[in-house]
Amino acid sequence: MATFTASSIARVSACPASEALPHVRTATSPEAARGVAAHEYLYRLHNGELREQILAEVPEAHREYCASIELRPVPGAVAEVAVAYDVLTRTARLLDVTGRAYGALRDSEIAGTCDLFVPASSERATTVVDWKTTHDIEGVRRYVPQLEFYALAFARAHRLSRIRYEIVAIDEQGKAHYPIQCELDFEDLGVIASRVEQAWRASRAQIAAAAEHTRSTVAPWVPSVTEGDHCRYCPAWRACPGKRAVLEAVGGTPEPNGAMYLRIQDAERWAALGRDTLREAVHEHGPLAVDDDRELRFNSRGALQLSKRRST
Ligand code: SF4
Repeated sequence: MATFTASSIARVSACPASEALPHVRTATSPEAARGVAAHEYLYRLHNGELREQILAEVPEAHREYCASIELRPVPGAVAEVAVAYDVLTRTARLLDVTGRAYGALRDSEIAGTCDLFVPASSERATTVVDWKTTHDIEGVRRYVPQLEFYALAFARAHRLSRIRYEIVAIDEQGKAHYPIQCELDFEDLGVIASRVEQAWRASRAQIAAAAEHTRSTVAPWVPSVTEGDHCRYCPAWRACPGKRAVLEAVGGTPEPNGAMYLRIQDAERWAALGRDTLREAVHEHGPLAVDDDRELRFNSRGALQLSKRRST
């Protein structure tokens, strides 16, 4: 159930119960698919492969975007470096893996992969870098806890007392922005280590509470959750009591008030998730029967559409 990795630190810190609720994979959005393609392109570029060769192998839907990215390899830097940090011993080890399959980890270890590790030079300290493809340049601030974790883990793995982190925001035209650049010293790293340990302990307490509840009663476990911006990529979104309340709040007849708008936004997200699930199903199995007369299929523009059922 628990998937506590570097990228979930902001969520787990704000809402530890999210680690103890059931996690469900959500369908990949077009923006996420473009981000994956861009990361793969940049990874291969930093591995010394020829730009033209990589672009030829990028999925056609993302080729133009990847070609527009203005970043070039940083001399001496290594792309996609994985690390595991132990919250109890406050030590870290580099992981010899590619991708996000981290292998066996101790329960007290949190793993993560930084996009780029740049060794120290005469101009600047060792730097960990994350690339974010986005139209919301300032919005990348939400990833600071993830970058702080990378800084902490790589500083511990390499026994560094100073380290920098950077978030490179790549906009829709491929232009690189540098809205977040920060240097941390030994004391800063100690504060971050305490925060990460606190989040880990809180999540473990929630997991123990969920297990204890399941042992003692058949009623569903309804934890106290904290909603916010960190909900965006929460894998427990579908099981979240706060989000599920939407279904009653929107369906009922409450006195209209401004907060209802937030519930409607959540309801729209439920609808989008449902549409994504249907898109995947139609993609995989072909048209889906709706009733005796109609079926759901893709139209010529690739959108889902109710159509008259074709005889088989
Ligand atoms: S969706 Fe629910 S469980 Fe997930 S972070 Fe938000 S409030 Fe917590």
